[in-house]
Amino acid sequence: MSTPRLIVLATANRGKALELEALAAALPVRVALLSELAGPVETSEPFGTFHENARRKAHVAARLTGEWALGEDSGLAVDALSGRPGVYSARFAGPGQPDAQRVALLLEMLEGVPTDRRGARFHCALCLAGPEGVLGEWAGVCEGRIANEARGSGGFGFDPVFVAGGQSLTSAELTPDEKNALSHRGIAMRRFVADLPPLLA
Ligand code: IMP
Repeated sequence: MSTPRLIVLATANRGKALELEALAAALPVRVALLSELAGPVETSEPFGTFHENARRKAHVAARLTGEWALGEDSGLAVDALSGRPGVYSARFAGPGQPDAQRVALLLEMLEGVPTDRRGARFHCALCLAGPEGVLGEWAGVCEGRIANEARGSGGFGFDPVFVAGGQSLTSAELTPDEKNALSHRGIAMRRFVADLPPLLA
């Protein structure tokens, strides 16, 4: 029997890596984190779209390792902030700030904004690349709103203040499986999983 193909997860974000690993568990592939194979890698996101950033991460990881690599870029677009922080979500409140700081700043910026104007959505872009180039791209969007206060201790990033459509709990109050079932990353990963068999054949 041949060894299953290795797919490198090109992310340095621990919360994302845990979710991607869980979502990839059903696949007939092995997954490894880029940091396990290549140590710490500079993971800047220089572009203005999620897809371009995901593509860059996948290219860098595929070239460094010689393996297939899955790049992921994601972020939160808030209606009342004209779509910000968007691709700058990880740097919202300044580079290297903890999640709690970003959440506090977001709540502050939305102070006094009524529930019906607190719409927001998470975007996720995925790119699978091999050393020769792009093999496929996928996206997922999760519509929701920003809560009035932070609740819950699960997930990461803006989860304590994000309430997905049809939910009353924040994403940080959901179990990992419940979050994956409705999240932008879960949606994009299920599309990736569906398209993978012919690529592996
Ligand atoms: P990046 O893709 O590494 O730029 O990071 C995206 C940023 O968006 C993260 O640092 C989080 O602040 C936020 N983000 C992306 N996905 C999620 C999620 O599933 N829950 C909460 N925050 C997220």
